[in-house]
Amino acid sequence: MKEKKISVVITILFMCGCLLACKTEKTNYTDQTNSENVTEAQVLNDSSTKTQESDTNDQLNMEERSDVENDSAIEKQSDVENDSAIEEQSDVENDSAIEEQADEKMNSDTEELQQIHLVMVGDILLHTRVSESAHLPDGSYDYNPIFSNTSDVIEAADLALVNEEVIIGGEELGVSGYPAFNAPYEIGDALVQNGFDVILHATNHAVDKGKKGLHNCMSFWQEHYPDIEVLGIHDSQEDQNTIYYYEQNGMKIAILNYTYGTNGISLPSDMPWSVDLLEKDKVIADLKEAESKADFTIVCPHWGTEYNLGISSEQKKWAQIFVENGADLVIGTHPHVIEPIEWYEDEKNDNSALIFYSIGNYVNWTGGAGAGTANRMVGGMADVTLVQEDGKVKIGEYTVHALVSHLENGTGNVSTYFLRDYNTELASKNEIIKQDVSFSYDYCVNLCNEVWENWE
Ligand SMILES: [Zn+2]
Repeated sequence: MKEKKISVVITILFMCGCLLACKTEKTNYTDQTNSENVTEAQVLNDSSTKTQESDTNDQLNMEERSDVENDSAIEKQSDVENDSAIEEQSDVENDSAIEEQADEKMNSDTEELQQIHLVMVGDILLHTRVSESAHLPDGSYDYNPIFSNTSDVIEAADLALVNEEVIIGGEELGVSGYPAFNAPYEIGDALVQNGFDVILHATNHAVDKGKKGLHNCMSFWQEHYPDIEVLGIHDSQEDQNTIYYYEQNGMKIAILNYTYGTNGISLPSDMPWSVDLLEKDKVIADLKEAESKADFTIVCPHWGTEYNLGISSEQKKWAQIFVENGADLVIGTHPHVIEPIEWYEDEKNDNSALIFYSIGNYVNWTGGAGAGTANRMVGGMADVTLVQEDGKVKIGEYTVHALVSHLENGTGNVSTYFLRDYNTELASKNEIIKQDVSFSYDYCVNLCNEVWENWE
């Protein structure tokens, strides 16, 4: 018995020795890895004393952290034969820890610049089958699934805009799709819950449900979401005359929203100010006021030719009016397909503006069929960072994230994806194939390549 005990003790001591040796080896290895990676991070960032100090601190923190990580990894896997597995694991952990810390540092550096990150998506086009997918067995509606694959990006932006194509008149006016649309209030709840801050209502469908539709919609927003900014429709002349300014970090941004028309339906005779129309004198007056009061002006026109992938002559005419009078960024909607993104230079007035001519639909389930229908499934999320330099606000970085309306039958099965997250398998399940056989993942990618130069 005694001999057996002694041999057990010796075995335990031997194992402890092996573990200690193994731990020391690995700590040295990861220290080396850390210092290589930190040097890279230092080069990426600037080499000011402040950064170097924080790098040293980061390195110390990482060393402490890697010790803790290695300790727990070794405790979990005490078998010496698993040595290489532990090394691999700690490499992965250290790499991702270093990347995370480097990212944090980059973010805190850029935050010192004054900047606003804004995103905008196109038409919330609630065809009958989109609303059917949101209709729950208890009779209520839930539109959240439409946003579940994009809401992270929408919520993370400082300012998120959306073109609410259809009036939100509530169920009392009957939920309807094309041609005279009406949405239940739950679409408004979903827009807010998924991170939108500014709702654009100047569309050709603004008076599909007449005066009652306008009133219900405006009352809904005022009563339930007074902090959400609603543009393009108004309950008084005074409201229409008041330009909206978004202010952040000392930057003042004017946002204007107009539609080319209202599908031939007249505005209520006693509410001529109820919808912002593209009327030249009014637009120029607004732009001039914005120019005098704001650092930067965004115009969101509902314009262009439906299903046209190019730029129409009307769009060119209005682009010139916008830029001549001080617009800095134009993001358009209505064509239901994507259109080019271009800088518009106005040499005479020494102004230039970035124009997203159309960012297409955010969501739709068109009743259309045949060639070209697939184009309506692709939209864009405009992504623009405004920066303040030498007292002026200008566009820093910009891009467009491609989007796809994914349509499947059943409750909650209509959702919009970033094209970067989409794939051939999902595309093969998209019900739109029954309406246009040409739809596929590659079709969407090719369309974006055809229309946009730089996209994600
Ligand atoms: Zn429209």
